[in-house]
Amino acid sequence: MLDASNEREAFDRDHFFHPSTHMGLHARGEAPTRVITGGEGVRITDALGRTHVDAFAGLYCVNVGYGRTEVADAIARQAHELAYYHAYVGHGTDASIQLAKMIVDRAPDHMSRVYFGLSGSDANETNIKLIWFYNNVLGRPEKKKIISRWRGYHGSGVMTGSLTGLKLFHEAFDLPRAPILHTVSPYYFRREDRSMSEEEFSQHCADELESLILAEGPETVAAFIGEPVLGTGGIVPPPAGYWQKIQAVLDKYDVMLVADEVVTGFGRLGSMFGSDHYGMKPDLITIAKGLTSAYAPLSGSIVSERMWEGLVKGADDLGAFGHGWTYSAHPICAAAGVANLTLIDDLNLVENVRDVGPYFLNGLKQALEGKAHVGEVRGEGLLAAVEFVADKDDRAFFDPSLKVGARIAAALFERGVIGRAMPEGDILGFAPPFCLTREDADLIVEKTAEAVDAVM
Ligand code: PLP
Repeated sequence: MLDASNEREAFDRDHFFHPSTHMGLHARGEAPTRVITGGEGVRITDALGRTHVDAFAGLYCVNVGYGRTEVADAIARQAHELAYYHAYVGHGTDASIQLAKMIVDRAPDHMSRVYFGLSGSDANETNIKLIWFYNNVLGRPEKKKIISRWRGYHGSGVMTGSLTGLKLFHEAFDLPRAPILHTVSPYYFRREDRSMSEEEFSQHCADELESLILAEGPETVAAFIGEPVLGTGGIVPPPAGYWQKIQAVLDKYDVMLVADEVVTGFGRLGSMFGSDHYGMKPDLITIAKGLTSAYAPLSGSIVSERMWEGLVKGADDLGAFGHGWTYSAHPICAAAGVANLTLIDDLNLVENVRDVGPYFLNGLKQALEGKAHVGEVRGEGLLAAVEFVADKDDRAFFDPSLKVGARIAAALFERGVIGRAMPEGDILGFAPPFCLTREDADLIVEKTAEAVDAVM
């Protein structure tokens, strides 16, 4: 007879179509099914009764940690009081109105309104439509192209999958290319000309962007989208001066900036927003994950006052903004957001990121940089990555069939710690909950060093 856990695994293999999963390996039981049953602080428990330090906070989203009764209680209270009402044609709830105010209070000064969605992907879809609507309002309907970066991640919808610059999200789907363009990635470790300083490489990225805008015609380019720190593309902090140089090009050609802060928003870099951290001046900021610490699905597009004024004018000329989701500003999710942001303040979690983040990164560097196949250890705030190379001198990639990154992540899991093998290259990513202690940071470092030694 099957025990409870095996039975669950069999049901899972037979009925559950998982996202971002190799279907054949999973259905044949050749890849592990992991059934997660509980969580407390930075730890989760699985159906086999094992406990793991979740050093990736789910999908870099459970920022306040697991088991927060303050957030769970707020969700329950809202569900009892008013589980749902829509936000169309001027409707609101106390929770959604309060949350909008809390977000704007925390956002860079020039931001003024929030449009709510459910996921980072739908928020970026909203952003594209806001940009197109706005340029129609301004009487420049040809200014519609959007520039993203290779290795950027902006979601996996039809348009947002096109923005995403990772081949896994493109190759098998024939996503529409136009009007999306891609420019170089600010990936200093993988620069072609190794003699370049960080500042020179940043200038190179800005020059490439300017050339692309000029080649396309500035009158056709509406916006540039980027994550303050590249996330799913490999956890790559920008080289020195990058955002200042990019911002200067955007300002020169009147191209809007969308800061995709789905990962970096609400404290992950040790600042409330990555835009403030790097001095960016976005017209739109995408938020999701950390807005509710994933206790309920909620996202948003934070709109600058400048753009808002144009949108209002547009409504007078073009009519209502014909775009919305049934669940926009869902009150249960908004209540989770209010409780989550309150908790981040009450527990000084962003301060903790500023303390434990550098401590953790330094620990990783000391334990790993000397190892034969560790090419780089990098990070910012509580985001870190270890990149593995076949050869340290020429930074050659391992043969992908060796699955080095995935094997190290699996070896780490067996040692009670969860890191993430990032989808392209052999890169092990870390994004622990903000309540990480120095002791747990030490444990992650120790287990990672053991896992690396076990595989290589
Ligand atoms: N933007 C960024 C920067 C992300 O990292 C993600 C998801 O990881 C998304 C957008 C898409 O968010 P979602 O998975 O909620 O659609």
